[in-house]
Amino acid sequence: MTFISRTPVGIDLGTTFSAIARLDENGRPTTLVNAEGDLITPSVVLFEGANVVVGKEALKAIATEADDVADCAKRELGNATFHKALGGRDYPPEVIQAFILHKLRRDAHALVGEVRQAVVTVPAYFDEVRRKATQDAGYMAGIEVLDIINEPTAAAIAYGAAHGFLTPEGVAQRPQTILVYDLGGGTFDVTIMRIEGAEFMTLATDGDVQLGGRDWDARLMDFAAAEFIGAHGVDPREEANSLGRLWRECEDCKRTLSARLKTTIGCDYKGHALRVEITREQFEAMTRDLLDRTRFTTQQTLQAAGLEWSSIDQLLMVGGSTRMPMVAEMLGELCGRAPDASVSADEVVAHGAALRAGLILTQRSGQRGAFQIKNVNSHSLGVVAIDPLTKRKLNATLIPRNTPLPVAAKRIFKTQKEGQKSVLVQIVEGESSAPEHCVQLGRCVIRDLPVKLPANTPIDVRFRYEENGRLGIQVSVGNTGKFVEASLVRENSLSQEQLDVWRRYITGGETAREEDSASGRWK
Ligand code: AMP
Repeated sequence: MTFISRTPVGIDLGTTFSAIARLDENGRPTTLVNAEGDLITPSVVLFEGANVVVGKEALKAIATEADDVADCAKRELGNATFHKALGGRDYPPEVIQAFILHKLRRDAHALVGEVRQAVVTVPAYFDEVRRKATQDAGYMAGIEVLDIINEPTAAAIAYGAAHGFLTPEGVAQRPQTILVYDLGGGTFDVTIMRIEGAEFMTLATDGDVQLGGRDWDARLMDFAAAEFIGAHGVDPREEANSLGRLWRECEDCKRTLSARLKTTIGCDYKGHALRVEITREQFEAMTRDLLDRTRFTTQQTLQAAGLEWSSIDQLLMVGGSTRMPMVAEMLGELCGRAPDASVSADEVVAHGAALRAGLILTQRSGQRGAFQIKNVNSHSLGVVAIDPLTKRKLNATLIPRNTPLPVAAKRIFKTQKEGQKSVLVQIVEGESSAPEHCVQLGRCVIRDLPVKLPANTPIDVRFRYEENGRLGIQVSVGNTGKFVEASLVRENSLSQEQLDVWRRYITGGETAREEDSASGRWK
């Protein structure tokens, strides 16, 4: 039986696992199981000729057909192509993400009917490039992306819902300040949120897109490989399938060590085999520096919000890696009390996204939603300017990090010399004053300026940063009438034609609806 679901879904598109949820008839979020009967789907894709397999089976293939398996593509969003060819072909990372989204959508369809609209989550620390790539992945999967929201915001919304903040009145009994510590498979995020009345406000956010459970796995792999080399003189990491087998063993061992005090890692390569014993204590010692990086970022974020631990009402742990006992211990030491364990670390983000999706549709139907979200920008945004004194390039910030959104900002620059023919505006994201240490978001060019335009003609640069983290830009030059709007040409971005080709390929030619997420895209 096919029926049309009017309920949009929320999708947690994780580095290592993804989940999809929708609101039930009582407005409560529920996770939808995938075709394999699991609540979470490994974010792993196997390219087997024309057959593309996503999830559990693709994960298993890491041990046998590693060359054709893509995992952790989320970490590579923003790059032109995934770091290796798959089945002899290069894929942009967002295309790999699109295959994962399509599998989630297809499996949800079997349960609840056609799924077209979704809110997708990203780490709060994701920059504009990666947010845009995530939105494109949704488009290529045939999804109308209603909104891209931050994972910790989603977690706080779900927490608020589970704790009665979103009752029909939608008002918190007293203001709450929540710290969300999110350690997933590939990314780490810490965000401080204030829930006041029906408003979810981000106060500060920080994180590391290159830190997660995978790094803990890598330490175990190094340890086991060193033992193996000592015993047999060969490195099991030198061949892709053996490396894949070792990783699966180590990831499994890591999970065991969350429950037990010791275990063994099995390793075989080139006809040799070894079982390596490891205790939780050893594991914690060999990964202490990784945990310390998260501790440092957590402290820094608290400082950025101008708060003390005593002002944090609740500490939420999100992401599968927070199941490692060392995480709760460290956080307990930091804040002087045990973190909250009342929400499911795996599902809470998808649940919050589903609540957000429900809210958007409520608002679209002209009603007032129960809660509002206020975000900050996680990175400073600026343009590359030339210092008139030193003539060196510098990052001229227009919107400093942690500014409440939406925000509009303006700054005036000047043409450098008389008769300048064009103006190049390079948009950068980052905290460094040196543009080469910032992320290059894109550029826009104003050409054909009038001849003999005087030096020091004002260049008016305006940014508008939306609540969903998207940036609009306007540039005008003096009273020449020359003006550019939102013509951001972003490096490594797929063109609309490419997106449409991929979309037909991934969805098997389903027809796209007009309003699908092409709107709200850069032209
Ligand atoms: P997420 O991206 O939130 O799904 O988190 C996935 C990460 O959590 C992966 O690195 C998993 O290895 C890790 N993980 C899941 N369960 C456990 C556990 N019981 N102990 C330690 N790590 C875990």
